[in-house]
Amino acid sequence: MKNCRCKPAYRIAPSPRREQGARGRDVAPAYRIAPSPTGYVHLGTIGMALVNSYLARQNHGTFYLRIEDTDSKRYVADAVAKMKTTFDYFGFQFDAEYVQSERTALYQQYARALIDAGKAYYCFCTADELAAMRAEQEKKGVKTGYYGAYAKCRHLSPAEVQKRLERGDPYVVRANFGYQDWGERITFTDAAKGEIALPPQINDPIILKANGVPPYNFAHVIDDTLMHTALVVRGEEWLISTAEHLQLCDLLGFPRLHYLHMPTINIEENGKKRKLSKRKDPQALVMNLVDAGYPRDAILEYLLTIYNTDFESWRTANPTADLTAFTFHIDKIGTNNPLFDLPKLNDIAKNVFARQTTAQVVAAFDAWQPTHLPDLSPVVKDRIRRMFAVERGGERPRKDLIKFGDIPTLYSYLFDEITVDVAQIDPAVVARYAEIYDDRDDQATWWAKIKAMTDDKKELRRIAANIRLAVTGQTNTPDLWSICRILGEKVVKSRLLRLAR
Ligand code: GLU
Repeated sequence: MKNCRCKPAYRIAPSPRREQGARGRDVAPAYRIAPSPTGYVHLGTIGMALVNSYLARQNHGTFYLRIEDTDSKRYVADAVAKMKTTFDYFGFQFDAEYVQSERTALYQQYARALIDAGKAYYCFCTADELAAMRAEQEKKGVKTGYYGAYAKCRHLSPAEVQKRLERGDPYVVRANFGYQDWGERITFTDAAKGEIALPPQINDPIILKANGVPPYNFAHVIDDTLMHTALVVRGEEWLISTAEHLQLCDLLGFPRLHYLHMPTINIEENGKKRKLSKRKDPQALVMNLVDAGYPRDAILEYLLTIYNTDFESWRTANPTADLTAFTFHIDKIGTNNPLFDLPKLNDIAKNVFARQTTAQVVAAFDAWQPTHLPDLSPVVKDRIRRMFAVERGGERPRKDLIKFGDIPTLYSYLFDEITVDVAQIDPAVVARYAEIYDDRDDQATWWAKIKAMTDDKKELRRIAANIRLAVTGQTNTPDLWSICRILGEKVVKSRLLRLAR
């Protein structure tokens, strides 16, 4: 390093240490979720975590979290904490947690071993040189990229490399895919999609960037090998890169990894399907659904309907079973990319709420309310909690609640201020009801009193509708006697008398 003009951005550890790369037979099969901390958690990431947690449980394996934070541009400072909070919320528990940025030295050791074996090399090409090369390739009408004779640094002499390193030229490390003949196709069996044949990657991909950190491809192959991942379950967007990943396995002398590519959740926009996007679609961020007050199990259950075609028939056959009783079948992963279906999520949410006990709904509401509906008075909060008990259980439980965020409109009458369409009110009817209403009446007595107001069926319907509207401002509500009891005689009567004129 005598004539060193500047220091290289990093130096590779000199003596590579071989870790045992093979996935050992005596190790429990590991499943993982490997999110990049780019902000909030995508609905699909929770889906992937869900599928992996099923597979881990069903195969008596382990389930680990790997934070893929090598792409510092995309790194968001508090994203890791947010991500963990989200995983916690959904009840995912990890047997181990890894952070890629803490493993840089390890990746560098593997890169160094590849360099020593002639399977990787230092590349000193500058951005300008690469751009010029690309322009030349475009002009000639040949494939663009860093391959064959274009892979200039692949052909540098050891002395030249040494000179440049000593001079401190910045570099990246590239895998030498010219090292062996890959044949026409790289073939593998995707656990969901079956036999796949992809053209091999002929470009020499970067395995260590100029800052010494590996991109996804290299870190993924090393980590999933060393961490004994039995099956790499990841989004379909990675399918096309699998050839490169398998080539890297070969180059490193690792047994090839096994893959399962999951369908991606799409959305329809102007008649066209596109990927559900974190930036454009609020429902893509799972925390938005949580913030809206969807029950946790509804989100998980919805994801299972997306990812397993037999989930819905299982649910019909087992209407009250816990989700953990479901068996996830790899061969039942749909082949089409599903569309995000809000009406379906809503329908599932209604059923999930309807299945829950009052105590369960109250507990979920109590956890959700302070951060999402913070201005509730204790009185109103108490009314809402009591409302959850109305028409719950039994043969035909009430199915009006989809998400807690709807409560201010759905149960508007539990709040202090209500709006009533006065034009629809018959003052004489409400005045009469104010006289006869008594909090101590049981439901039968209460109804008997209303019935006694007329012998005409049609008139009775009109009277009941008037009372409902006067007390609640709505034409359709759950059991009115229960609502009156929750509001209490004083509130009921003041609402009536105000309209009795
Ligand atoms: N970090 C990758 C992502 O966020 C994960 C891909 C994988 O699961 O291997 O998409």
